[in-house]
Amino acid sequence: MRGLAMNFCETAYRSVTHRVAAARHSAGRLDEVTLLAVSKTQPVAAIRAVAALGQRVFGENYVQEALAKQRELADPTLEWHLIGPLQSNKCREVAEHFDWLQSLDRTKLIEPLSRHRATASAPLNVLIQVNIDDEDSKSGCTPAQVTALADEITAAPNLRLRGLMAIPAPAPDLERRRNAFCRMRALFDELCASRVGIDTLSMGMSDDFELAIAEGATMVRVGTALFGARSR
Ligand SMILES: *Cc1c(COP(=O)(O)O)cnc(C)c1O
Repeated sequence: MRGLAMNFCETAYRSVTHRVAAARHSAGRLDEVTLLAVSKTQPVAAIRAVAALGQRVFGENYVQEALAKQRELADPTLEWHLIGPLQSNKCREVAEHFDWLQSLDRTKLIEPLSRHRATASAPLNVLIQVNIDDEDSKSGCTPAQVTALADEITAAPNLRLRGLMAIPAPAPDLERRRNAFCRMRALFDELCASRVGIDTLSMGMSDDFELAIAEGATMVRVGTALFGARSR
C-alpha cells in the first residue's frame, strides 16, 4: 500500500486508537481495552499496513479466507481471532490455526476443538457468544446457557475460557444498545465471580465502541472505522 491508501490507513488507525484511549479515560477505567482489527474481506496489503503501525490482533469471519491471509502474511507475531459463526466441520482448522475463538455457542464444538488443539501449543482461548437480544438471525447461546457451556469449556484440556462476546441488535437508539451492553456486563460479572481466569468482554464495533467501553467492554472489534467500507 502506498500514497493515499497508506495515509488513510494511518489516519484511521491513529484516530481509532485515540478514541479507544479517550473512551477508557472518560469511563475512569484503569484496565486495558484491546482493539481487535476486523479485517474480513480486506486485502492482505491492508492488514500489512495496519500491522506496520503496531497492530497485532486481527479478527476474521471466514475460516478459509483467514487461512489464506495467514499463509500469505506468514507473520508469527500476529494474533488471530475467529469472530464469525463456526461450523462443526471447521473445528480442526480453527484449533490448528487460530489463537482465539470468539463465537463458541454450542456444546457440540467443544470436544473437537480441544481434541484438534495440539497439546504442545498454548490452549485455544475461547469466548462464549451470547445472543443478547434474542435475535432469530444471530448465532450465540441464550444467557441461561452460559454457565453450562462455561463448565464444559473449563473441563476441556486444550481450551481456555476467557469470557464472553456479543453482537447486540443494531438498534438506532443509544439507550437500547446501552441496555444490551449492560446486560452483557452483568453476565460477565457473574462469570468472573464464579471462576478464575475470566478477563475478556468483547463487545462494541465501529458504530458504538465508545459506548461499549463506557459499559465495560475489555475488547472492541472494529472493521469499517479502521479499514473503510467493505466491498462485500
Ligand atoms: C464485521 C464484524 C465486526 C466489525 O464491524 P464494523 O462495523 O465494520 O466495525 C465486529 N464483530 C463482528 C462479529 C463482525 O462480524
